[in-house]
Amino acid sequence: MAHIVTANCNDCKYTDCCVVCPVECFYQDEMMLYIDPDDCIDCEACVPECPVEAIFGEANMPAQWSSYTELNKQKCITLKAGDGHITEKSDPREGPGCKKK
Ligand code: SF4
Ligand code: SF4
Repeated sequence: MAHIVTANCNDCKYTDCCVVCPVECFYQDEMMLYIDPDDCIDCEACVPECPVEAIFGEANMPAQWSSYTELNKQKCITLKAGDGHITEKSDPREGPGCKKK
C-alpha cells in the first residue's frame, strides 16, 4: 500500500507535500507530482498539506482516480532515472487546469 497523488494536482503543483515527507519519495514532471509506492511508508503526513486534496491512501482512493495508482508507479520509475526528485517547496504552477481559485 502507498499514498497516491491524483488528478487535482494536475496543473497546480503547490509542492507543500514533498517538504513533509520523511522518506523523500516525491517526484515531479512539468504538470504534477507523484509518490514512489516502493518508498512511501503510509505515514499520511502529506495528506493535510495539499490545498487541493489531491493525495489519498490506496484504500481511500476515489474510484474515478484508480488509474493514478499505476501512473504514480510508472512515472516514478522514469523520473527516478532523471532529475525528477523533489524535496523542497518551489513556486506553484497554478496553470489554467488548477482546481484552486
Ligand atoms: S501539495 Fe497537492 S497540489 Fe501541491 S504538489 Fe503536492 S499533491 Fe500536488
Ligand atoms: S504518506 Fe508519508 S511517506 Fe507517503 S508520500 Fe506521504 S509523507 Fe511521504
